[in-house]
Amino acid sequence: MPEFCDVALPVPLDMVFTYRVPANAAPVVGGRVLVPFRQQRMTGIVMELHDRKPSVTTRNIISVLDPAAVLDEQLLRLGRWIANYYLAPLGDVFRTMLPLSAEFKRSIGYRITEDGQMALHLAGMSGSSARSRRTPEEQAAEFRVLDYLAAHVSQAEFDRVGMSPAAIGTVAEDTNGKGTALAVPPASTETAALAAEGVLVREETLRSATRVSRTILDGMVRKKWLVRGDASGPQTAARTVKIAVLKSADGKLNDNQRQIIDTLAASGGRVPVQTLQSLEVPRTTLSALIRRRLIEIVEEPAEFAVSHTKPRPSPFEFDFNAQQQSALARLREGVNMRKFSGMLLHGVTGSGKTAVYLAGMRAVLEAGRSAILLVPEIGLTPAVAADLHQVFGDEVAILHSALSDRERAEQWHRIKRGDARMVVGTRSAVFAPVADLALIIVDEEHDASYKQEEMPRYHARDVAVMRAKMTNAVVLLGSATPSLESYFNATKNKYALVELPDRVEQRPLPEVEIVDMRQEFQETGHEQVVSRKLAAEIQERLDRNEQVMVLLNRRGYSPVVLCRTCGKKLECANCAISLTHHKREHKMVCHYCGYTAPVPKACVHCGSEYVYFLGTGSEKLEELLHGMFPQARIARLDRDTVHDRADFERTLNALDEGELDLVVGTQMIAKGHDIHGVTLVGVVGADVALGLPDFRAAERTFQLLTQVAGRAGRGQSPGKVILQTYFQDHYAVQYAAHHDFAGFYEKELRFRSWMHYPPYSALANVLVRSNKLDEALQWSGLLGNWFDKTRHEGVRVLGPAVAPILKLKRDYRYHFVLKSPSREKLNTTLRAMLAYATQQKIPRTQVIVDVDALWLM
Ligand SMILES: [Zn+2]
Ligand SMILES: [Zn+2]
Repeated sequence: MPEFCDVALPVPLDMVFTYRVPANAAPVVGGRVLVPFRQQRMTGIVMELHDRKPSVTTRNIISVLDPAAVLDEQLLRLGRWIANYYLAPLGDVFRTMLPLSAEFKRSIGYRITEDGQMALHLAGMSGSSARSRRTPEEQAAEFRVLDYLAAHVSQAEFDRVGMSPAAIGTVAEDTNGKGTALAVPPASTETAALAAEGVLVREETLRSATRVSRTILDGMVRKKWLVRGDASGPQTAARTVKIAVLKSADGKLNDNQRQIIDTLAASGGRVPVQTLQSLEVPRTTLSALIRRRLIEIVEEPAEFAVSHTKPRPSPFEFDFNAQQQSALARLREGVNMRKFSGMLLHGVTGSGKTAVYLAGMRAVLEAGRSAILLVPEIGLTPAVAADLHQVFGDEVAILHSALSDRERAEQWHRIKRGDARMVVGTRSAVFAPVADLALIIVDEEHDASYKQEEMPRYHARDVAVMRAKMTNAVVLLGSATPSLESYFNATKNKYALVELPDRVEQRPLPEVEIVDMRQEFQETGHEQVVSRKLAAEIQERLDRNEQVMVLLNRRGYSPVVLCRTCGKKLECANCAISLTHHKREHKMVCHYCGYTAPVPKACVHCGSEYVYFLGTGSEKLEELLHGMFPQARIARLDRDTVHDRADFERTLNALDEGELDLVVGTQMIAKGHDIHGVTLVGVVGADVALGLPDFRAAERTFQLLTQVAGRAGRGQSPGKVILQTYFQDHYAVQYAAHHDFAGFYEKELRFRSWMHYPPYSALANVLVRSNKLDEALQWSGLLGNWFDKTRHEGVRVLGPAVAPILKLKRDYRYHFVLKSPSREKLNTTLRAMLAYATQQKIPRTQVIVDVDALWLM
């Protein structure tokens, strides 16, 4: 075994760290190790094993967490590419790629001190002290902690370990906020040796009687009865899976019970409980069978819990039109070639793209290979999950944001073991550890949720393309409104362009009518939220018992509170952003940082009573519509009313079933896989974005208008869209109204070319931030001077300039925008700039490099 290993750690430094490999340890490249880093313990990925002695002294690896690689050669290579392309620290990239944090427990250890021993002794002798202001409960809790520690940590151990506070974890607590738990030190001699290095804490959550709150522990540390230290370590509890085992099929069964018993019998009598839960029977059915001892539940280590069910023969039949068939044929052809190719599937809303994806994936599954389907955040509703199970049975792993860390880790292992070869998920599913990858599909490839807005700032669509290239797979990008970048690539023959120009069953596209709101103002004499035309059309639908959707892409009641005396707005304490009035919750909320304030009765600046609530958000629109149509059943879909996917789906289903007449919502209602049609879509202020200083504003507006218009149409009725706008001549509005993607694309491309914006230039946003204004100014000034004085041929640098949002989450922000036709030159300049920043002692976390930035705010 080589003497040293290089480890990538999740710290904001662009380097790997060298550790010594102890005699009995066997780390592997691509596997995790636990190492000491400064005063902490950290997990990192082994990048290289070697015998090159570093010039600095090295510390030992604490333990090897994986006997085999968790990141194979291809994923390691992909990680290096991301680090290089997005200028992100490698360790951060790997942490993002591996959802296994649940297997590593961050915990804090406590050890009793001599003062603590004394306090325990005194408490035992004389009971509670009369001067104490602690409640008897608190004193009892303290006593329990001291007693426990004294009993479990012998003086001998104490001496052996020395005085390092991190030495023995005896009371450990979860840092995930799930309470405090007492834990016992390891018992065997082997683990005791590890414990001596402060490594291993066998965590045993005891009965609630032994739980103590963090406040009490803090108090005991202040009194010097305890010493606190880091006791993080690997989770020693093995991952297990619950398996249902069939014991008997005798006795009377109802239909639901019969279904479970039959499923079990058909799979050899053993099925993971998770599988049974996906059957459409109430959960209580299984419990009843367990009570009757017909089924027994056993827990098995996940590694051995191989699924015994075969994928169900799919009842899901695809009935394709000619265009869908030809798209599928081209996809299958590409997959069979076993070399990289890219396809852009441009299909209008309702053209049946999803069916093409699923059929393509099924072909991959039948060939014994793997596929990944990426969907936007909002796209993974329970109904979609049900469809996926229908088509792929147990072979599908669904990764969504509602999974706990532990569930996510379990799904990851299922995929790694090869139990699930079809992976469906949001952004980070692009890193799923599938073997023999044949196909990656990116649905709604233009969607902004594919870009991660924190380090590493990768774009999952672009990573998908690169992963397909590295593995000789096919990548399919699908959208009704492809991004300029992807469509541009298709016209340059980087991708094959496949069009689905018609809705399924030859359903027509909706008619779009534009209402000019400036004219509405002139004719009615006051500012309208809902135009006369839209109001009349809504009334008509209500009279016919049809359903309506109204889009207003701004949540809350009023977005601005203004003082008529001093002219100032009520802003967030942390951000240079107006607070939004939320009427039902009766508070002011910052939509950027979550800060809240009471609703003002007078101006906070001058005390004047003339404060005005201006503008309209979705909450106010809902109220207005209630007033206009008192008989209508109205619901609202935005981040204030939708807390999970089920909420979202419930409302859309109610609309679909005719239990609702009208749904008001933000862009949420424009997205989603399963388009429930309505006969009228009203658009109220979807063009707000056109007023923003953002070169993607027109593209975003066009996409949003096209997507929401796609909601119109039900059965053979094409549906209608009423588009209210203050920008009626803007090309984004006009082309969206005419369903003319090609026209929009041509026009927008000319603008991008003229302004040297993507796709004609590679672009990066460099943000310099600090919670001290002078520091932000000084640092951005330093970098500005450096950009001025250094030669960086072929790269345009704009700035430093105040960021469009000067202050965000307490940080003052300045930025640079860099553009270059050559990505290599752009990244060379950025790298040199970061090196200069480090040299000038500007912390790496305060200079944010966002390559291919979607937002310049
Ligand atoms: Zn004022
Ligand atoms: Zn804020």
